[in-house]
Amino acid sequence: MGEAGMGEAGMRGPGLSGPLLEARNLSIRFGGLVAVSRVDFSLAAGEVLCVIGPNGAGKSTLFNLISGLYRPSSGTVRLAGRDITGWPAHRIAAAGIARTFQSSRLFADLTLIDNVVIGMHCRTRTGVFDALLRPARARAELEAAAARAGDLLRLVSPDLHDRRHSLAGALPQADRRRLEIARALASEPKVILLDEPSSGMDDRDTDALIEDIRLTMTERPGLSYIIIEHDMRLVAALPERVMVIDYGEKIAEGPFAEVRLMPRVQEAYLGRKATHA
Ligand code: ADP
Ligand code: MG
Repeated sequence: MGEAGMGEAGMRGPGLSGPLLEARNLSIRFGGLVAVSRVDFSLAAGEVLCVIGPNGAGKSTLFNLISGLYRPSSGTVRLAGRDITGWPAHRIAAAGIARTFQSSRLFADLTLIDNVVIGMHCRTRTGVFDALLRPARARAELEAAAARAGDLLRLVSPDLHDRRHSLAGALPQADRRRLEIARALASEPKVILLDEPSSGMDDRDTDALIEDIRLTMTERPGLSYIIIEHDMRLVAALPERVMVIDYGEKIAEGPFAEVRLMPRVQEAYLGRKATHA
């Protein structure tokens, strides 16, 4: 990684003496292919890190490693100093890492509210048996969850809040993406991983998305983001720091204005798809 280990803002949380999230020497191999190769990075509380790189570079795989969908072949992931390497995805989610996927994973025939409530499941206390044995408590908890889901929708987008009782399947693509962000926030994460949030959006939708993300950053100042993005307008507009992945390796890191001028970064893009650069 570019900087020394101690992130400035990483000193915030109680008893925390290092970055909020840290990957060291992270690799995964699929047969002969090393999809992520010895990647190091760290993320401070409240920081936004953008991940860019050509198609197939290993960006989504990196998310799968951090969120526990894949187990790394080597390397470690630490959250608030705790080694979470190899933990199952549900445990990592409960520990505070939420994500969205490159292709939408909403429940199309549930309402917006219910989609967000599902995102809270690792934070609600009532399990199936409780619900059967203590229905009043279960109902009260569900009602509280629905109210909180409404608040989250309003936070991400007042416009989505107005349509909270519609079915998610009826939403245009851009609004589905925003709904996914609201759902990810519902688990009260410390870190949120967004995989190409602007995919399928036109420029106007992307501008609105940038505003949505800025709003959540103001409302939740301690929340950290890692955003995989192909739209360079969004990359230029949001984060303080960019990390470039090519063939599974981190080839550059720093402010976007500097990183984009690096010959190695330009080659990575021009070598394959000039439209990306
Ligand atoms: P990106 O998100 O940067 O476009 P990915 O992380 O999706 O790229 O993929 C990186 C490489 O890893 C690709 O060559 C992809 O085919 C490969 N890959 C990803 N997941 C798997 C898997 N489960 N099994 C085999 N190969 C995979
Ligand atoms: Mg991807």
